[in-house]
Amino acid sequence: MNILLTGSAGFLGSHLTERLLADGHTVIGVDNYISGQRRNTALFMEHPNFKFIQADVSEGIPYKAAAFEGRSLDYVLHFASPASPPHYQQFPIETLMVGAQGTQNALELAHAHGASFLLASTSEVYGDPQVHPQPESYWGHVNPNGLRSCYDEAKRYAEAITFAYHRHHGVDTRVIRIFNTYGPRMRPDDGRVVTNLVMQALAGQPLTVYGDGQQTRSFQYATDLVNGIVALMNLPESQAVHAPVNLGNPDEYTILQFAQVIRELIDPGLEIIHQPLPADDPRQRKPNISRARELLGWSPGVDLRAGLTRTVESLRQQTEQAARTAQVDAEQVPSASA
Ligand code: NAD
Ligand code: UDP
Repeated sequence: MNILLTGSAGFLGSHLTERLLADGHTVIGVDNYISGQRRNTALFMEHPNFKFIQADVSEGIPYKAAAFEGRSLDYVLHFASPASPPHYQQFPIETLMVGAQGTQNALELAHAHGASFLLASTSEVYGDPQVHPQPESYWGHVNPNGLRSCYDEAKRYAEAITFAYHRHHGVDTRVIRIFNTYGPRMRPDDGRVVTNLVMQALAGQPLTVYGDGQQTRSFQYATDLVNGIVALMNLPESQAVHAPVNLGNPDEYTILQFAQVIRELIDPGLEIIHQPLPADDPRQRKPNISRARELLGWSPGVDLRAGLTRTVESLRQQTEQAARTAQVDAEQVPSASA
């Protein structure tokens, strides 16, 4: 297939690109690097089936078939959006725009090409949930104007417009609700709990737990998510494939337990310190994945310690490489007297 992927330079975009290329597809990545990494584009630039367009998808998606051997698109995957709470709170308007205009531009493109469309939605559409674990039938409990609303409401709108294009224009749409996902190639400074705690532990610093640490999350390894996405993409069109599908790992941890796992893996001597809980931080989160099991025969297979071990190794290498590059750069800077 000829697949256009928005958000290709992001953490999940890089894993999807890797898998789709390995499966023999052509991938046209689109990104403006607002929260992504150029290194994730560089990984694939030599691949004959990878092309990249630098663009803000909220402004438009400049895919012209003529520039791509006349090929029309078979699939549009819309993953562009800041995803970490510090990132989307730093760019609230851009986050709303990419969930709204960006999603519409991606849907228009799919419609024009007769392509299928897949939206990366999120467990954040459930807000601070009062139903636990969360099934897709739950409508959520969202503060419409709180600190997280730029992300939550953008994704809720993105789901609404996706369903409107399906019902009104007959576009073959699919919606996944992704629960907290981690793995190699996350940005070390993205501010999410996984990278914060791993980077702190690698630096021998205390681990920061917000609030009392009794809030819960369920952590899914990136390749498990990618397997679920590919399974949903490959299902033939039927009424069932259009409904939102939770993709997450139901293995639930309090954040304090999670910090203890990181400490055990990296340095059992580290201190855990508490910092204020951000506003509207969801108290609990765990997916009900019955729909994904039944529809896709999918369930996650990578357990937390195994996934974290690979993630820690990748972040360690990334940090060492950044330090080496900084050292080489420093050696190459001419001295003031030269
Ligand atoms: P990420 O920030 O690493 O990747 C997002 C990418 O989108 C970045 O490369 C960013 O530069 C790009 N982008 C943002 N706005 C853009 C715009 N206007 N035009 C072009 N590119 C733009 O985040 P991620 O964790 O890889 O998340 C990817 C998608 O999955 C997001 O839509 C996010 O909401 C969703 N999601 C992720 C998680 C998770 O745990 N990682 C959970 C739920 C949902
Ligand atoms: N968190 C924490 N310490 C950190 C970063 C985050 O205790 O250094 C908490 C945060 O308050 C939340 C949970 O960890 O309860 C998950 O946060 P993250 O930003 O990864 O994603 P969220 O699920 O909140 O979108």
